[in-house]
Amino acid sequence: MTPANEPSFRESVDMMFNRAVALMDLPPGLEEKIRVCNATYTVRFGVRLRGKIQTFTGYRSVHSEHMEPVKGGIRYSLGVNQDEVEALAALMTYKCSLVEAPFGGSKGGLCINPREYDEQELELITRRFAYELIKRDLIHPAQNVPAPDMGTGEREMAWIADQYKRMNTAELNGNACVTGKPINAGGIQGRTEATGRGVQYALHAFFKDAAGLRKAGMSGTLEGKRVVVQGLGNVGYHAAKFLSEEDGCKITAIIERDGALHDENGIEVEAVHQWIAKHGTIKGYPDAKMEEAGAKLLEADCDILIPAALEGVINLANADNIKAPLIIEAANGPVTAGADEVLRNKGTVIIPDMYANAGGVTVSYFEWVKNLSHIRFGRMQRRQEEARHQLIVDELERISEDPSIKWTLNPNFKDKYLRGAGELELVRSGLDDTMQTAYQSMAAVWHDRDDVDDLRTAAYLVSIGKVSASYRAKGL
Ligand code: NAD
Repeated sequence: MTPANEPSFRESVDMMFNRAVALMDLPPGLEEKIRVCNATYTVRFGVRLRGKIQTFTGYRSVHSEHMEPVKGGIRYSLGVNQDEVEALAALMTYKCSLVEAPFGGSKGGLCINPREYDEQELELITRRFAYELIKRDLIHPAQNVPAPDMGTGEREMAWIADQYKRMNTAELNGNACVTGKPINAGGIQGRTEATGRGVQYALHAFFKDAAGLRKAGMSGTLEGKRVVVQGLGNVGYHAAKFLSEEDGCKITAIIERDGALHDENGIEVEAVHQWIAKHGTIKGYPDAKMEEAGAKLLEADCDILIPAALEGVINLANADNIKAPLIIEAANGPVTAGADEVLRNKGTVIIPDMYANAGGVTVSYFEWVKNLSHIRFGRMQRRQEEARHQLIVDELERISEDPSIKWTLNPNFKDKYLRGAGELELVRSGLDDTMQTAYQSMAAVWHDRDDVDDLRTAAYLVSIGKVSASYRAKGL
């Protein structure tokens, strides 16, 4: 939560926005039109649980409808409030624009601690909340498409899709009313891991940028880099798992709500994940040192800090003590505007949220397209692609049988080349391309403009430029 003596989350987002638009030449008034949130709907509804009616408060905020549908997750947390959903909806507008997902920005939230309810109760609450939003077209395949966020996952998305279809029985595109669904309910391969996977791809892009690495005072590759991650939920778990298992990073600390695990030799992410699934806490995990004051480890000596839990955790109280030269904002808004300034002055490089965690909405976009086209990616072309590759391999093998030619095919090549791309490969390829292209667009501004000295401002400039172009194209 953002500290009381600092601007609210929404004010923080607006301050960062203002910093960027001051460097732009927008037509009079357009700046305000883009910045303000179009509408926020508040709903209070009752659900009969455990013998009495309990009243819940939920929100759905629409920040910008320059493209429709608008898109953004639904969060379940006691910290949810109007300011927070509006900040998150604004970030969705900028994020979608930056990665060219053709959506406006939206966000929703329910003020609830999901751990206090069993599955059946959560289903009742989710369906009732969805009912309230659906009847006002705040969940709709062409107008407003939610996705998972903190405290929600594919289970809740499946309930929402089913609720929508029950209320719109003749709607052919009903599945496209929400993304992040399980595969057997219209989901897409690779969506659950997508945000964490996107964080990994963002770091790949950063480590290819020699000028960026120099600005962070870093060198080399991801191999052996010491990483501290906060929040081992959907985003943090996948990011830390891929970085340690595939890129050779060492996860030296995992900060959770009830403390932190610390081991300079590296912590096994999968083992901790399974421990949490079984015990509901990191406490008692045997293979790392436990620190009760978990958030203190945000200040640990490391190469890369990944806040992947909630907003406002890096603020004026600890910004000075942050030692990581590189922060990648896997969560939305983890660095307050005040802390951003302190860190910028120190030379810390921050890969901003609107880019770093855009993997989720990117794959959500693919899922939405899949739902509208009613066919799995790769279904039509996979075997045909394999057959064409087989032709080439057969021909190469025929040639290699000629005794005058001294070469043979590497068996690995044959296996890899013959395998046509299925849905997961295509999703990863689309995500990788999106993250690389968006990184290059930000980095070009970061490195080429003298008046831009951080990636966040560069990201805002690229993104607001595109939003403003689409407003102008609409005649506004
Ligand atoms: P999640 O609910 O799956 O995980 C959140 C994790 O953070 C949990 O493990 C929780 O125990 C931990 N946590 C909560 N409070 C904490 C605290 N004070 N200190 C340390 N850990 C704490 O949520 P998620 O989907 O992984 O989302 C995390 C962040 O990523 C949010 O900011 C969200 O908006 C952002 N995000 C998520 C997605 C997505 O696809 N899920 C996409 C883009 C951005």
